Amino acid sequence: MMPPTALAPGATIGILGGGQLGRMTALAAARLGFRCHVFATEADSPAEQVCGAATVAEFSDREALERFASVVDIVTFEFENIPAEAVRLVSTVRPVLPRPEILEIAQDRLREKDFLRSIDVDTAAYREVADEVALLRAMRDFGHPAVLKSVRMGYDGKGQVTLTPEIKAEEAWQRMGGEIGILESFVDFTCEISVIVARGRNGAWATYPPVENQHVAHILDTTIAPARIPAETAMRAEVIARHIAEKLDLVGVLAVEMFVTQSGDLLANEIAPRPHNSGHWTIDACITSQFEQLVRALCGLPLGSVEHHSDAVMKNLIGGEVEKWRDALNDPLSKLHLYGKAETQPGRKMGHVTRLIPHR
Ligand code: AMP
Repeated sequence: MMPPTALAPGATIGILGGGQLGRMTALAAARLGFRCHVFATEADSPAEQVCGAATVAEFSDREALERFASVVDIVTFEFENIPAEAVRLVSTVRPVLPRPEILEIAQDRLREKDFLRSIDVDTAAYREVADEVALLRAMRDFGHPAVLKSVRMGYDGKGQVTLTPEIKAEEAWQRMGGEIGILESFVDFTCEISVIVARGRNGAWATYPPVENQHVAHILDTTIAPARIPAETAMRAEVIARHIAEKLDLVGVLAVEMFVTQSGDLLANEIAPRPHNSGHWTIDACITSQFEQLVRALCGLPLGSVEHHSDAVMKNLIGGEVEKWRDALNDPLSKLHLYGKAETQPGRKMGHVTRLIPHR
């Protein structure tokens, strides 16, 4: 269901999920005069802290979902693993953008890869593995190293096991912990990049330049913007991202993560139909941030310029690294963003720092 008319400032955007992506979306919305109402499973979430209204309930609480939907004008989501039924229920009351079907593709690594292949986007070789026996067979066919991932509920490397000759199928299956797995050939990449595209209701595009992502323990640690890749590779990456967004009939923001192989080929790894951690640099270095683009796209407003006035290096503050927040404030070229999370845990994204390299 596409909303019939554009929304004007003063309207209320409903956000499913209470994390930092919701928080930064709400901050961008507020600047444009929109209100936000967050639906989160926990009180005092990063998003709730900056939203005018909040519903704190489980995603299985149909009554709460319907009540939430009835008091907002449009709904989006900030977290991949929101149960599809909850999003579908909300979409019967108010428009949800991006379309719930896109979220459902992104929630399932098999559907995601099948979809990418169906639209001629290259990926690593992969195979569905439904049990230990199938895994053993696939391990023989794929050789080592290979990567086993749970098909659902995987993010930040959760449910992911790199298979080496020492790891037996039984142990790998246990460690993966999912009901169904996907085995992928290991990609010996030169770097990992991502492209963020925004698409408006009228089909207008805004594409940010590819950025380079460095992971530590499967969690994004640093983003270098723009990526240090040949211009021709960057152009191909942008074309792939727009192709995916177009085939999805996206309205909103989409991130496409890709591997750059030794031979310069691009393999799509993951899509995320929401603002993305690798796009945080756009807040401080671009004329329009990824979050503002989402608000503009949702509300049927013109997209903004993606031009960047600075290059940037974004460093996530993960777990105890948040203690270094003061260092960022002492550096005149760094911008500190903290997410308001009360409890520090290992592997938890607590904030980020964007160091700007202004174009002179
Ligand atoms: P994902 O959850 O699929 O985004 O994977 C998290 C990270 O694990 C990626 O960003 C890569 O650094 C690494 N990774 C995932 N899949 C592969 C693969 N097939 N080959 C090599 N590295 C991978």
